[in-house]
Amino acid sequence: MSLLSKLSNARQKIELKNHTTFRIGGPAKYFFVAQSQEDFIKAVRAAKEAETPFYLLGGGSNMLVADEGFEGLVIKYNFSAQHEKKKSEELELTVEAGTLFNKVILGAVKAGYSGIEWGFGIPGTIGGAVFGNAGRLGQDISGAVKAVKVLDKNLNEQVLTQKECGFGYRESGFLKAGATILEVTLRLAEKNREEIDKTFNEAREVILHGPKFPSAGCAFKNYKLNGEDDELLKNHPELKERVRGGKIGVGYLIDQAGMKGKKVGGAQVWEGHANYVINTGGATGQEVKTLMDNVVEAVGEKYGTLLEPEVRLLGF
Ligand SMILES: Cc1cc2nc3c(=O)[nH]c(=O)nc-3n(C[C@H](O)[C@H](O)[C@H](O)COP(=O)(O)OP(=O)(O)OC[C@H]3O[C@@H](n4cnc5c(N)ncnc54)[C@H](O)[C@@H]3O)c2cc1C
Repeated sequence: MSLLSKLSNARQKIELKNHTTFRIGGPAKYFFVAQSQEDFIKAVRAAKEAETPFYLLGGGSNMLVADEGFEGLVIKYNFSAQHEKKKSEELELTVEAGTLFNKVILGAVKAGYSGIEWGFGIPGTIGGAVFGNAGRLGQDISGAVKAVKVLDKNLNEQVLTQKECGFGYRESGFLKAGATILEVTLRLAEKNREEIDKTFNEAREVILHGPKFPSAGCAFKNYKLNGEDDELLKNHPELKERVRGGKIGVGYLIDQAGMKGKKVGGAQVWEGHANYVINTGGATGQEVKTLMDNVVEAVGEKYGTLLEPEVRLLGF
């Protein structure tokens, strides 16, 4: 049975560059916008029944899509209802996956609740943020998550506790489990205004110093130390002073490997911070991918360590 017979209002040949912050990406064979949880579930179900590969898209702010696009169904979602439960000094906020992360942050900050103000300026949806365990200023969203409602791989709705989400550094267990995030419950704590504003303003500073060109945020995950006997530190003790919170910012490694400012076509390693790859105008997916591969090679040669992409690749 064809996908269109199950999801008749799916559109065809939609350019994904119009749905990613990189402004890069060829056509999706099928494209469907889910405006409610029911729609979202219907689309996932249709794709599974029609045996059509599918891909979930929130704000498209952590994505590099190939120029050839994707030979399947892209399900973009934007549903965003919100419910809150106030307990004495706590706020339990349940938000649908398509709610913009910044909107949730601004609401919480305005009401005097702390737990996510560090994330101000991170584009995209709360669904995307939870999927990638988005973080900034040494904190990440896993610290504020109480529970996540998902559609599991057998199409059953389930509520997972924070511990069951498999959070790690910029990752979660949802990909491995084949689960679709439907709704997120955050637990936020009351805090005094000055403390909240301090972190919120620091987060705002990060945006002011970010690139003005299209990008998908940091291209690579920072380097996480492997305990006391970390190989990288053993071979390069000069990096000890770069360690923050058990990690080394890979922007520095990329810079030291001579890649800052390097270009492939319209793609460039940003001069302002070498862990960003920017689209200076008309960059193709392949140009970004080639540049990222060159960065991996250069850092590998200089430091003997393999960089891991933070950006999700689709269609490569
Ligand atoms: C200028 C800029 C600054 C950034 N700064 C930061 C930063 O400081 N910290 C940080 O962590 N990130 C940062 N990012 C990256 C990005 O904004 C975050 O990763 C964001 O949380 C992604 O959300 P999204 O909705 O855009 O996800 P998308 O890019 O749409 O999707 C990302 C991944 O999540 C999966 N996914 C999305 N929704 C669901 C769902 N409902 N269920 C299951 N899987 C799903 C997708 O399939 C995809 O694999 C930045 C990006 C930009 C462009």
